[in-house]
Amino acid sequence: MREQRLHYDPAEIEPRWQAVWAAERTWEVSNDPPDEDGATQPPSSYVLEMLPYPSGEPHIGHLKVYSVGDAIAHFRRRLGDRVLHPMGYDAFGLPAENHAIKTGEHPRDSTAASIASFQRQFRRWGISIDWSRELGTHEPRYYRWTQWIFLQLLQAGLAYRKEAAVKWCPNDQTVLANEQVVDGCCERCGAEVQLRQLEQWFLRITDYAERLLNDLDGIDWPEHVKTMQRNWIGRSEGAEVTFRCEEIGVDYPVFTTRPDTLFGATFFVMAPEHPDVLRLAAGTEHEQAVHDYVNHALTESNELRGAADRPKTGVPLGRGVTNPVNGERIPMYVADYVLMEYGTGAIMAVPGHDERDFAFATAHGLPIRRVIEGAATSPPADFAGTEQEWGRSPLSLPYTGDGPLVDCDARFDGRRNREALGEIVSWLDREGKGHASVNYRLRDWLISRQRYWGCPIPVVYCARCGTVPVPEDQLPVQLPDIEDYAPQGRSPLAAAEDWVATSCPACGGEARRETDTMDTFVDSSWYFLRYCDSRNDEAAWDPAVLRRWMPVDQYIGGVEHAILHLMYARFFTKALADLGQLDFQEPFAALFTQGMVTKDGAKMSKSRGNVVSPAAIVERYGADTARCYILFIGPPDQDADWSDEGLEGVHRFLGRLWRLAAEVAEGGMAGPHAALPRTARAPSGQSARAPIGDEQENMAEADLQLLRKTHWAIEKVSTDLRRFAFNTAIAAVMELLNECSRLREQVGEPAQRFALQTAASLLFPFAPHVCADIYDRLSGGERVWEQPWPDADRTLLERDEYELVCQVNGKLRDRVQAPADATAEQLKELCRAAPNVRTHLDGREVVKEVVVPGKLVNLVVR
Ligand SMILES: [Zn+2]
Ligand SMILES: [Zn+2]
Repeated sequence: MREQRLHYDPAEIEPRWQAVWAAERTWEVSNDPPDEDGATQPPSSYVLEMLPYPSGEPHIGHLKVYSVGDAIAHFRRRLGDRVLHPMGYDAFGLPAENHAIKTGEHPRDSTAASIASFQRQFRRWGISIDWSRELGTHEPRYYRWTQWIFLQLLQAGLAYRKEAAVKWCPNDQTVLANEQVVDGCCERCGAEVQLRQLEQWFLRITDYAERLLNDLDGIDWPEHVKTMQRNWIGRSEGAEVTFRCEEIGVDYPVFTTRPDTLFGATFFVMAPEHPDVLRLAAGTEHEQAVHDYVNHALTESNELRGAADRPKTGVPLGRGVTNPVNGERIPMYVADYVLMEYGTGAIMAVPGHDERDFAFATAHGLPIRRVIEGAATSPPADFAGTEQEWGRSPLSLPYTGDGPLVDCDARFDGRRNREALGEIVSWLDREGKGHASVNYRLRDWLISRQRYWGCPIPVVYCARCGTVPVPEDQLPVQLPDIEDYAPQGRSPLAAAEDWVATSCPACGGEARRETDTMDTFVDSSWYFLRYCDSRNDEAAWDPAVLRRWMPVDQYIGGVEHAILHLMYARFFTKALADLGQLDFQEPFAALFTQGMVTKDGAKMSKSRGNVVSPAAIVERYGADTARCYILFIGPPDQDADWSDEGLEGVHRFLGRLWRLAAEVAEGGMAGPHAALPRTARAPSGQSARAPIGDEQENMAEADLQLLRKTHWAIEKVSTDLRRFAFNTAIAAVMELLNECSRLREQVGEPAQRFALQTAASLLFPFAPHVCADIYDRLSGGERVWEQPWPDADRTLLERDEYELVCQVNGKLRDRVQAPADATAEQLKELCRAAPNVRTHLDGREVVKEVVVPGKLVNLVVR
């Protein structure tokens, strides 16, 4: 019987506490407005992990991110905050649809099965979720408001439709956003991406480029994430300069960051996607060659085309443009190293001062002109001229540095290039040939997807009225059931004839629905708003409720979302704020990005056979071990390698904690049962003051040692939790437990009880079930999650040295420095040796010595 009670059995402990939390809805928070006086309301705190994509079962990455988030949520609750910690599912998307194509199972059914498995696991892990707010982005109740937001953006001119060359995944048969193309391949399936001309919906994120960039300064995000966003936005300063093609009478602006090199332009290059390329070549001897070149170039990825070491291919257009600074006619080319996405899709080529232009000029026998003095290389031995002449020689490779201008124009020659730059731009401006300009790499967000399992775009096309938004009171535009999900280059929805054919909301005539669905990143760009008010069916949210919770105080997720999701969510927030729907500008005040968990040094994958299933781990060791280990494995923002031995170690630690606590609870302690210092009883914030005065005087040395260690652990875990150093926080509790074991035979029951109860209190954010159980047993029924976070008694914190108060007959006579680990005997020695104490002792007899370690020694003399 007793043996059984001392056996750590997570399979018995964990469901018991989960049942309590579920029955009492412990983690639910209401949206009630603050009390009349407002003063009694605890601060609101919104802790949020990125919502999962429900596919199959949760993986080890999910275990990590929700363990991190839950530790933060628990810590904030016990610091006194009212914490919103909700859960939902990013449920639209390709895997469910691809599964449907393979098996015929409706995506709704496979998604529902997946969501059920995620729910089961999250409950099994004991994550403290407010389930009353749960949502799925695929539910009509949710996407009704996704569509509503789209209509707001449309009305504001922030959503528009245009024909454009778009990235096309031939495997997934859909368009991809720029952000979803990695090294020229589909981010999801790895297929090489192609280009197609299609009518597509875009969101005008470029209108927000400057604000998305500048506002990064005001948020508490990891610097590397901010850098990734800055690079993606890609702001550069320069000038827009107009080159005119006299033959067809059209101006072609280019963006350049180097207007100081304008005099060195010797040719002009357009991107293959530039809409005028074929028209320019039409009727010239190069027409066919241009046609062939463009067709080929469009199948290649931007990344490949932009690579510095790639041979520079291209063909002449048979036309020329005039260089506005010197009236020179220079030839036009089409070449794939110029990208339509950057600037205007056309460049002035300055081979004397640009590496890629130089490579192209060399390959195509075009003139290379130096207009800034300076040599990229030293002259070779057989070069006949001077250093200066070498500097101007095309043989010296392109010179990308600064220097005096040469061979430009009398106005500028001899001037430093950077100084002359502004004047050249002013001159262009006065002449109407150019102006200063800022360019962004960021492009508008393409949201149309030719797929089924997504949010329908709420517009219809009417022959008479054109594009007509579906009226708000007719939302949601429900996704119809279909039989055939296989994409044929158009949305599967196009086959749902009954659904597509509709009437025009404006004129009542025949109309057809938009058959593309939205990029799923639209769904996740606002879900954090909906959590605040997820049961509201009258509006997307009540602004007063949002004011209470938003912005998210602590957001947690993978760094792989640094650009896509995090940029889009910021854009939505700013756009909705501009439309008067929100009164804040940034959605996530602070961000924490967790590292990956690898196995045997490699990313876990089925093909490698190194997948660790959280469900299996939890089944075998319990959720507390799994959660504690995943946080103990290393700094949570770093990648870490899974180790079965490490997992076993954490499991043994929890077992040891449980057993020691059980012994104390059962009264089976071996040590002496000293008197309980009153104030050392409960490890809560209010009552964990240090025992003082007589109580402490009476404390055994070992008791004090353990008390010190306990307060050290409180301080260490509190500090570590604030800086997300969960691994060292858990290590501190392990250290405390070691001390409990080491001093087990020497300390009194109260000190041991206090230490173990505190250990449970501190470890609760990481291993909630076993800690709730231990705390309950040691405290006689108190609930650890209702206890304030403990405060460390600073006077008990271990220091290297402290100031020992030396008294004689209760009067302060001296102060001396004492080592923190000095024994009572050593302290007495120190006190007796203090100069002013010696004066007062003066041969008198010491009848009693009172030692309060960490504080004072009092010598009673007669
Ligand atoms: Zn793909
Ligand atoms: Zn109409």
